[in-house]
Amino acid sequence: MTDSDCLFCRFVAGEPAPDVVHETATTLAFRDINPQAPTHVLVVPKAHHRDAAALAAAEPAVMADLVASAAEVARAEGLGDGYRLVLNTGEGAGQTVFHVHLHVLGGRAMQWPPG
Ligand code: 5GP
Ligand code: ZN
Repeated sequence: MTDSDCLFCRFVAGEPAPDVVHETATTLAFRDINPQAPTHVLVVPKAHHRDAAALAAAEPAVMADLVASAAEVARAEGLGDGYRLVLNTGEGAGQTVFHVHLHVLGGRAMQWPPG
C-alpha cells in the first residue's frame, strides 16, 4: 500500500528525491532533514504502515529488515562505538510523520534517559 499524501511514500517513489544512504528490496534509508546528531538517518519500509506496531503485525519480517538496514547504515557511517534506534510512536511521543520510520542516531555521546 502507498499513499500519495504521505511524504515518505513519495520519497519511496523517488519524488521529491531524498538523500538516500541505503536501500534494499523492502527498505529505504535517507538522511533526516533536521539532524539531531552527526549521523541521523531514517529507515522506512517501502510499504506504508502508520507505526511500528502496525508494521510488526502486518509484516514482521520487514520490521526485522528495518533493524538490519539500520545496522548496515551504522556500519557504513562508522558508528562502531554505538548508535541509538528510536521509533517515536504516536503524537504524544513526538511522532509527526505517520509512515513508520526508524531513527538511527550516532556520532555523539547519547543521553539516558532520553528526552
Ligand atoms: P518523527 O517526529 O515522526 O519521529 O520523525 C519525523 C522525522 O522526519 C523528523 O526527524 C523530521 O526532521 C524528518 N522529516 C520531516 N520532513 C522531512 C523531509 O522533508 N525530509 C527529510 N529527509 N526528513 C524529514
Ligand atoms: Zn507512507
